[in-house]
Amino acid sequence: MSSSLRLALFGPPGAGKGTQAQLLKEQLDVAHISSGDLFRFHVQQRTELGRVAAEYMNQGLLIPDTVSVGIILDKVMELGAEAGFILDGFPRTPEQAHILTETLAEKSRGLDKVLFISVPEEELVRRLGGRFICRQCQAPHTLSEAGADASSPCRQCGGELYQRDDDRAEAVQARIEVYHRQTAPVLDIYREQGLLAEIPGVGEIADINRLARAALELPTGD
Ligand SMILES: [Zn+2]
Repeated sequence: MSSSLRLALFGPPGAGKGTQAQLLKEQLDVAHISSGDLFRFHVQQRTELGRVAAEYMNQGLLIPDTVSVGIILDKVMELGAEAGFILDGFPRTPEQAHILTETLAEKSRGLDKVLFISVPEEELVRRLGGRFICRQCQAPHTLSEAGADASSPCRQCGGELYQRDDDRAEAVQARIEVYHRQTAPVLDIYREQGLLAEIPGVGEIADINRLARAALELPTGD
């Protein structure tokens, strides 16, 4: 039976949020509302909301919060009144969170829970910053395959391995810092509303999923 749980999911890059979103979507049998996919859909299909959003983007302007919340609300209202959902990648700012809270409350579709998957920064850097590429055949390698100084040859062609700028520890660290700086105030709002649950995103996927279900007060037995 599908759940009526209305959930928002947060987690820094590399936290395994996508994996847990997919598992919870299947276990709860609810819609997965990915804000990135929704925005692309509206812009590509040139819906009214998409045309408004595109106008701002074409001028290099930020899409107003009312428009981005409108895109999310449009999807939520498409679902039945009793249908649950997992909101993924939204809201990004405190302003969006406030408008979303008001707008969902008006439609009696308020969030039931907000789940944050937390991973220590050094672990995220290890996960995201451990990617090496072969100069000749472009095959990706992990840190353990490449060796600490990337001195091991490519396992496919014996070519030299290197690290792209985006994958370097400093770049990865900067991405994580931006995420935390933007997200912390949003999480504070949901903490004040008593909706926030935090779980550690370290360990086996199944164990993290069990912690997620426990935090959502769902049955955790398989
Ligand atoms: Zn190679």
